[in-house]
Amino acid sequence: MSLLPPEASGLLRSVFGYDAFREGQAEIIAAVLAGGPVLAIMPTGSGKSMCYQLPALIEGGLTVVVSPLIALMRDQVSQLRALGVSAATLNSLNAPDENEAALAALRAGSLRLLYVSPERLAMDGLIAALRRARVRRLAIDEAHCVSEWGHDFRPDYRRIGAAALALAEGGEPVQVVGLTATADRATREDIARRLFPAPPRLFLHSFDRPNIELNFAPKDQPRRQLARFLEKHRGESGIVYCASRERCETLSDYFETCGHAAVPYHAGLDHAARNRNQDRFLQEDGVVAVATIAFGMGVNKPDVRFVTHADMPSSIEAYYQEIGRAGRDGLPADTLALYSLDDMAFRRRQIDARDISDERRRIEHARFGALAMLCETPACRRQTLLAYFDEERGPCGRCDICQDRVPVIDGAVPAQKALSAVWRTGQRFGANYLADVLVGADTEAIRRNGHDSIRTFGVGREFAKAEWASILRQLFAAGALRTASERHGGFALTDKGEAILRGQSPIRLRRDPIAAREKRAGKAASLVAPGHEAALAALKRKRLELAREEGVPAFVIFADRTLIEMAERRPATLDEMRAIHGVGQVKLARYGEGFLQALEEASR
Ligand code: ADP
Ligand code: ZN
Repeated sequence: MSLLPPEASGLLRSVFGYDAFREGQAEIIAAVLAGGPVLAIMPTGSGKSMCYQLPALIEGGLTVVVSPLIALMRDQVSQLRALGVSAATLNSLNAPDENEAALAALRAGSLRLLYVSPERLAMDGLIAALRRARVRRLAIDEAHCVSEWGHDFRPDYRRIGAAALALAEGGEPVQVVGLTATADRATREDIARRLFPAPPRLFLHSFDRPNIELNFAPKDQPRRQLARFLEKHRGESGIVYCASRERCETLSDYFETCGHAAVPYHAGLDHAARNRNQDRFLQEDGVVAVATIAFGMGVNKPDVRFVTHADMPSSIEAYYQEIGRAGRDGLPADTLALYSLDDMAFRRRQIDARDISDERRRIEHARFGALAMLCETPACRRQTLLAYFDEERGPCGRCDICQDRVPVIDGAVPAQKALSAVWRTGQRFGANYLADVLVGADTEAIRRNGHDSIRTFGVGREFAKAEWASILRQLFAAGALRTASERHGGFALTDKGEAILRGQSPIRLRRDPIAAREKRAGKAASLVAPGHEAALAALKRKRLELAREEGVPAFVIFADRTLIEMAERRPATLDEMRAIHGVGQVKLARYGEGFLQALEEASR
């Protein structure tokens, strides 16, 4: 029932060489041609660009495409030119004569598609030139960049709405078409509000990427876990995401010693080295990129066969975006995400340390929480993941849980104990408090609430506190618990939870709650970003040595937080050391040198 003009399929064939539209394309293209604002949300690799490229060819007139990634713009322009389409890009990396040629083509009225960065679009000069050229349509790629709630917020995206109005001044309105692969409901609404003059027609396509296999594992011996996974994929291209630059380097070296072709990619490398490594990944077969999140935006490599997270990503959206870089060609692709309590603590601390509103912080925590739940869910990963994006579906058959690779047990008894604790404490407490009740901990809060006299107090001594916390999170992930109130994050029973509590509904739980394995990691390690554990240990040794010399408690020398910051930021001079939290003049003079030396020795 698509209302596409008859020439659409012909152009798809003659210009692009494709025989049929992909799912969703025809109706979006029809809506774009019909006019009015359109917001299209489709998974990566589904062919979003076609949704504005083909209309530009059908109708004539100029389409301005805003994209945050210069590399991607250049790619698209060369692809379009190769197809014989008149396209150009204006950006800061162009040689001056390239920009000149683009502007000349614009003046001559021969351009169909002009790709510009959001910064450019905000410049007055360009707006004037575009107004003369009569822009028909503004296509906003990666539209989620307009929202602070998305994961790649670009302040310049905020000016696009005004630019659209400026372009239309005194003439026809300019149609705005937004496209993105990621947006949960909150972000979607935010995009609609900020980018469009009027509420857009929304096209929301399934986020499912059925060819991507989903696996998660608690960190046990992460290097070995990663090595085993890479071994399965020897000779294939893949990406390993890490939380820190240092970890990129050490893992990349390690993979090399295992005989893989591996290249590091992170913001600490100079421009040339980064480009060199990225080119190798793009050009050679079977190269593994070991990268921080800086990598992959705009990497259009279709045959990435696997994506691994050596550390937990920052949110469920980031996770999905990153694994989405695998298998764009539709062939099977594999993923593995490692997680640990340390990672969880690290990400939570990162969120707490950010300079954002309380409201925003709550959202960030919720998004990270959704990822933590996904790690711990005893139910199908894809089902759990897609439920987050409001999609309902059955078990997938292509994840570690569906394929029985995660040990799960009949969880009726522990589930009933945990749910009963939720019930009897009035459905207002979180996992930590409830776990304390279950193990019968003697805490002030429990006594004050009188919860040391309820029947559930201490019925769970067979598990450690952290294991109970994990079981509670699993129950949440399985839909047996919900958060009681947005503000406090306590748990309440759902209908499903009540059925389990009454023994009317079965529940499976993971047999390996992560907490059990994490005990030996110790407390200090749990606070520092992955990859900096050794440096922190060295700093602590130094602190202990000084504390002994001076006969004072360790924290008098420096607080943990100070050492953690030193370990993560690696000051190399006294000046840099001065910038660390908790390092004043006096301590700098007294201890600065000693700790600098400890850091230096640790990184040898
Ligand atoms: P997205 O922006 O959604 O990640 P792209 O627009 O880059 O995806 O498209 C991904 C790939 O699919 C591109 O190589 C594109 O040329 C190709 N493609 C787009 N539409 C079709 C189609 N109808 N049939 C076959 N291939 C298509
Ligand atoms: Zn599954």
